[in-house]
Amino acid sequence: MPSRYDYDVLVIGAGHAGVEAACAAARLGARTALLTSNCDTVGQMSCNPAIGGVGKAQLVREVDALGGVMGRAIDATGIQFRVLNRSKGPAMHGPRAQADKRLYQTEVKRIVERTPHLDLRQETAEELIVERLDGEGPGRARHRVIGVRVRGDGEYTAAAVVLTTGTFLQAVMHTGETQVPGGRAGEGTTAGVSRSLAALGFRIDRFKTGTPCRLAGGTIDYARLEEQPGDLAPQPFSFFTDAIEQEQMVCWITRTTPAIHDLIRANLHRAPMFTGQIGSRGPRSCPSIEDKVVRFADRESHQLFLEPEGRRTSEIYVNGISTSLPRDVQDEMIRLVPGLERARIMRYGYAVEYDYCPPDQLRPTLESKPVARLFFAGQINGTTGYEEAAAQGIVAGANAALAAAGRGELVLDRETAYVGVLVDDLVTRGVDEPYRMFTSRAEHRLSLRHDNADRRLTPLAAGLGLAEPERVARLAAKQAEMESARTVLAAHRSGGTSLADLLRRPEFGWTDCVAVAPALAGVSREAAVQVEHDIRYAGYLALDRERIERQRRMAERIIPDGFDYARIRHLRAEAREQLDRIRPRTLGQAGRVSGITPADLALVVLSLEGRGGDRGDRA
Ligand SMILES: Cc1cc2nc3c(=O)[nH]c(=O)nc-3n(C[C@H](O)[C@H](O)[C@H](O)COP(=O)(O)OP(=O)(O)OC[C@H]3O[C@@H](n4cnc5c(N)ncnc54)[C@H](O)[C@@H]3O)c2cc1C
Repeated sequence: MPSRYDYDVLVIGAGHAGVEAACAAARLGARTALLTSNCDTVGQMSCNPAIGGVGKAQLVREVDALGGVMGRAIDATGIQFRVLNRSKGPAMHGPRAQADKRLYQTEVKRIVERTPHLDLRQETAEELIVERLDGEGPGRARHRVIGVRVRGDGEYTAAAVVLTTGTFLQAVMHTGETQVPGGRAGEGTTAGVSRSLAALGFRIDRFKTGTPCRLAGGTIDYARLEEQPGDLAPQPFSFFTDAIEQEQMVCWITRTTPAIHDLIRANLHRAPMFTGQIGSRGPRSCPSIEDKVVRFADRESHQLFLEPEGRRTSEIYVNGISTSLPRDVQDEMIRLVPGLERARIMRYGYAVEYDYCPPDQLRPTLESKPVARLFFAGQINGTTGYEEAAAQGIVAGANAALAAAGRGELVLDRETAYVGVLVDDLVTRGVDEPYRMFTSRAEHRLSLRHDNADRRLTPLAAGLGLAEPERVARLAAKQAEMESARTVLAAHRSGGTSLADLLRRPEFGWTDCVAVAPALAGVSREAAVQVEHDIRYAGYLALDRERIERQRRMAERIIPDGFDYARIRHLRAEAREQLDRIRPRTLGQAGRVSGITPADLALVVLSLEGRGGDRGDRA
């Protein structure tokens, strides 16, 4: 007789997606279990020990504004903070922080352990337990998930399940000719979840990703490297953090050389990426060094960033040299890098191939179409990156808890959040390579700045019960501070012009305002930045808002559940098939489905309005 446990929500996998999903579900009051193969790897960074960057930082700030974990954890454990793209406009700024990898995990685990209604349990899920649903129809789920079976004779039941198994499903790691089963160095793989999903009719595909070698820091000649310090005034990720107090560490920069590129070219016949040993696609934005040498054959050198993995270890991550070349080639390659002539590898680089579930099988709540109450988030959806995983986690976890309680849903649109852009891209277009966030994916990026994520999302999160009361109080205090700063700016003049008007000029900045109106010196950095951006970009933002309103009116129109596309007489078969597969909820989403033309959309509109064109209508 198996041991049985009952919860409202089960989350499988405690990576970046799973942690946010479980904490979000628990914050909404759901009795939640976070089941993961190893309680010592909660929130582990499989690859780069860093959070944020351009496009990704916006996701972290939004996750934080929704009450999430990632921003607080990196603020507490970061060892170097820098804002990337600072010379560009604020929509392009990308705060990034190096983490103390072990400390980050410990902090995430601590947050999980202290979250009410949440149990962390070491279990490996092997099989989904489902029940059949009655009734057929376009877009109707055939099954509903009711729990999972775990390794070692245990069963968990719940009203909703979130799958966040990352790179671990039927995973194989490659280093040269060697292939080892496992989703991450030193860890195993699981096959049962993939088998269960396939049996339930899900399409499953494979992607690959890779990671560089790590070095023993004591063997590096730092004198030959360029130092890269952090920012003098480190900027926090969480709206809860007032200041980053801990001391910052430096990183270092070096470069590959033509001799390294020659070595790689001479060994391509042993590179799994080129021999056919790896058959699946990896992220184009994050190519391996062998890929870079082939794709950018005219480049003589690529930058390498040497990043500490923590304060209490000298282990160094070599950013820019991800590879699955054989060990002997990696050893030789490292010795050819200036400053690394005597460096020793602590862990070799490798690539991993794993199953993912194409995300066009999901609804905008991240609930699956074939199986009701089964939600997916993170790398299992064909994305790459901790931040992308966390963003999906919070959406899936919140929706799982809301579904379990029979209470509405959390769907963010593209105009409100990068999280909305991410989820909409995934469920509407699917993926043909591991998906990562870029600012260019967002149509309204000037409105979706990282500095205003709290104003965009915290009120909404508070309405659902996702954001803590202290967070809401902090936002209210900041808004009051901004309001009084605006009053001061409008009241004070310099040369006959108000400070508010002067702030629109590029040559006039906040410090100039403070010089004229010393009362502004007490305004917090967070509030000052937002007031300045709001004033400086008011014209663009007003135009953007107008455009958003126009598009929204048309795009918001709901396509009813179970809408029968086969009824539309002149709709192309290909368009019908695509719309039937994706089952968009709104006209806006339908227009973004790949392969749908304006003419197809016009036919859908006519049909929705009952203005003819349907089969069975009189001509
Ligand atoms: C080798 C490698 C290289 C990478 N390179 C990059 C990169 O260059 N750039 C980048 O942005 N991202 C990279 N990543 C991806 C990054 O690690 C992921 O995007 C991110 O960790 C995904 O988060 P997740 O929560 O979806 O999954 P993960 O962080 O993988 O977490 C999954 C969790 O689920 C658990 N689990 C799995 N199966 C089960 C089961 N059946 N039962 C219970 N628990 C289970 C695992 O133990 C783990 O804790 C790389 C990953 C790897 C492994």
